[in-house]
Amino acid sequence: MQLTIDLTDRDVLVTGSANAARQAVRRYEAAGAIVYRLSTPDGAEGDGPLPERPFLVAAVDDGEPGWEPLLDRCREAGIPIAIEPAAGEPGRVTLVGGGPGALDLLTVGAVHALRDADVVFYDRLAPYQELVRLTSAKLVDVGKRPGHHKVAQCDIEKLMVDAALSGNNVVRLKGGDPYVFGRGGEEVAACAAAGVPVRVISGVTSAISVPAAAGIPVTHREVSHIFTVVSGHAPLTEKEHTHLAGLGGTIVVLMGIGTLPQLAAGLRRAGMDAGMPMAVVERGYRPGQRTTIAELGTIETAAAGCSNPAVLVIGEVVRVAEANRNHAEASAELSRLAASLLEA
Ligand code: SAH
Repeated sequence: MQLTIDLTDRDVLVTGSANAARQAVRRYEAAGAIVYRLSTPDGAEGDGPLPERPFLVAAVDDGEPGWEPLLDRCREAGIPIAIEPAAGEPGRVTLVGGGPGALDLLTVGAVHALRDADVVFYDRLAPYQELVRLTSAKLVDVGKRPGHHKVAQCDIEKLMVDAALSGNNVVRLKGGDPYVFGRGGEEVAACAAAGVPVRVISGVTSAISVPAAAGIPVTHREVSHIFTVVSGHAPLTEKEHTHLAGLGGTIVVLMGIGTLPQLAAGLRRAGMDAGMPMAVVERGYRPGQRTTIAELGTIETAAAGCSNPAVLVIGEVVRVAEANRNHAEASAELSRLAASLLEA
């Protein structure tokens, strides 16, 4: 978490052990403060001089005893105290699901992990625009390099492991949920193989939240009690088309723009009705979010201008969204009518 206060040239005393205080020091320095350190209540070698009267004391909760008398003296002298959380444990990796890209769909766990990180490796689909507000960590974009080449998966894993082994608390921020087509399992395995402690914070997957952004519920009573999430990265096999068409529930496809023609044709060959409603939701929760609704038989033409990132939804639930939208529009029209009648 970055500070929202301008402390330019203000003397700030950060108290707490070096390890626990390392992120608070970064936060106060980033806010422009002149940072002084007290790493034990009696001071320790390397702490340097102390200010005569600090503007603020940032007291990092390092779990050690003996800080209270100092804090009491500050209170008596009228020096404000900000209680700061201790930095995350160094030498570990946290895989964080960042949700579909909206700040308010980050979990509390994700926000805390970002706050406690020293380094964050993120990619394009994570909510990276918000990162500078959420963390004082070093930010590394592994989605693309200056030459627009993606960093290879094995290199990402090596970067994460090396950063943890050199004493950083590492966050790997991923779009949606780390375990849904996110290669999260491979990254956990790489950490485990290197003996680096690792944990995973689940995120809000785009498979459910992006249809929701377009008003589409993936299940709906008496309409669909199954939803299947499929990767469209490579075309499906004929057998898979047959099984999907036979299930009779909602089909949600991620990474499906490139293989949409094969999917639509395959499902039709497998017997799915060409009139089955279908939606393409592009850029969910982001500027330019757009929903294209057509039918299995017409989607290829209707979605010709669609691009990634997008989620495809095939099933009767698409009509639920349309019905709700029409209902909402009709009620809005009725209220407008009522208002104009009242005015008249
Ligand atoms: N782990 C991610 C999915 C990674 S695969 C998750 O759980 O959401 C990447 C695909 O996710 C994209 O090709 C697209 O199909 C989908 N996606 C992710 N974010 C999206 C967004 N904001 N809008 C539309 N599609 C999105």
